[in-house]
Amino acid sequence: MKSVVVNGYGTIGKRVADAVSAQDDLKIIGVSKTKPDFEARMAVEKGYDLYISFPEREKLFHDAGIEISGTVDEMLEKADIVVDCTPGGVGAKNLAQYKDLGLKAIFQGGEKHEDIGLSFNAFANYSDSFGQDYVRVVSCNTTGLTRTLKPINDLCGIKKVRAVMVRRGGDPHQINVGPLNSIVPNPPTVPSHHGPDLQTVMYDININTVALLVPTTLMHQHNLMVELENQVEVEEIIKKLEDTSRVMLVKANEGLGSTAEIMEYAKELGRSRNDLFEIPVWQESLNITEGELYYMQAVHQESNVVPENVDAIRALLEMEEDPEKTVQKTNKAMGIL
Ligand code: NAD
Repeated sequence: MKSVVVNGYGTIGKRVADAVSAQDDLKIIGVSKTKPDFEARMAVEKGYDLYISFPEREKLFHDAGIEISGTVDEMLEKADIVVDCTPGGVGAKNLAQYKDLGLKAIFQGGEKHEDIGLSFNAFANYSDSFGQDYVRVVSCNTTGLTRTLKPINDLCGIKKVRAVMVRRGGDPHQINVGPLNSIVPNPPTVPSHHGPDLQTVMYDININTVALLVPTTLMHQHNLMVELENQVEVEEIIKKLEDTSRVMLVKANEGLGSTAEIMEYAKELGRSRNDLFEIPVWQESLNITEGELYYMQAVHQESNVVPENVDAIRALLEMEEDPEKTVQKTNKAMGIL
């Protein structure tokens, strides 16, 4: 049983903590908060030992009646590995402390690949992280692209990908982000950073992306145009995606024609926080014209990277050499289809 701590118990951190707790070979021995807010209170109510990022704020937690177990420095001393889920850019600053402690660390997609040195996706490059000290789990968008492009590349080879990324303006709880009533080319320059980010885990993929921000909080949505290396039928692509873990085919004609309806379906699954860890691909959108595959998919940005964080722990701690075995183990414990 390996001891894991989560530094930054926010949108991603609280989900990673629960996913790790569900595994029989890992345990959470601490999570951290900067403020005595409802998430801090609920972490303690769930039974997590809570550590504070800023020792001078101890009185704030005491006054709020939230029990703390110590400081982040103390938490890190006890761990086999830290999953850093702090806001983008903070993780890279924390890296020096983890290095001083000789502590292995996993970072999130808000960090720059160059700052961490190695990026991770369980399906694309698991073995490159085996036994390494630091790795970055790629962002929710890049994880979504990898989940479907990797099996398609395995099936028939990919000459070139073009993708239009329609991105949510913010997460559901974020009251001060937008846009509220606009479609924003973001960035307005082409290509966006998503293509190069995919190349940090699928090293040889030829891809260009453009990205937009829209006024929604539920999911991202991707539109892909994929020039195939070898001729295949759409049915073969469908079969491949059906057989691929953490990908699900959905049918618009069954009432799942939008991100809103897909998130309603996620509620029906009855998981904690209504999370959808899998990438839904609209079956009707799959089409091949003149050797080019078209399809549309969505990404539940708050949760899809969470299982890959669990897999990354097993890779860094050399707990499982076979990526398929860790994926299966993680999936089973998290109830992933
Ligand atoms: P968040 O703001 O919801 O949570 C961050 C947590 O870190 C909060 O609990 C905050 O209190 C804590 N924190 C802030 N400053 C800190 C500091 N200096 N030291 C320690 N803790 C600190 O952020 P999030 O959305 O969970 O994002 C975390 C990381 O995950 C980022 O790299 C982000 O890019 C990435 N990510 C986010 C999403 C998403 O859609 N939210 C999806 C995939 C990846």
